[in-house]
Amino acid sequence: MAERAGAERAGAEPTVPDPAECPRCAAPGLARLAVSPVPDAWVVWACRRCSYSWRSSEPPLNSSRAHYPGQFRLVASDIDSASEVPAVPERSQLPGIL
Ligand SMILES: [Zn+2]
Repeated sequence: MAERAGAERAGAEPTVPDPAECPRCAAPGLARLAVSPVPDAWVVWACRRCSYSWRSSEPPLNSSRAHYPGQFRLVASDIDSASEVPAVPERSQLPGIL
């Protein structure tokens, strides 16, 4: 019955608090990608600057700037100077793959 009650409320605005900044790069202005169909269960957030995404129900190690591992943190200059990710070649150009 809990699923049914949740389904009836699906689509309601979540009460999960919005994060103030990206855990990885500290940028504000996050995008809400998805909301749980079960009210207040979770929200998936994505950073518009570094593309990091996380679910609000993940542990602070993944969802909080204060707890995010220092060796994986980024600042704006890290992102600006990052090398370009190479394009994936067309399937027919990959050797050994039909
Ligand atoms: Zn970010």
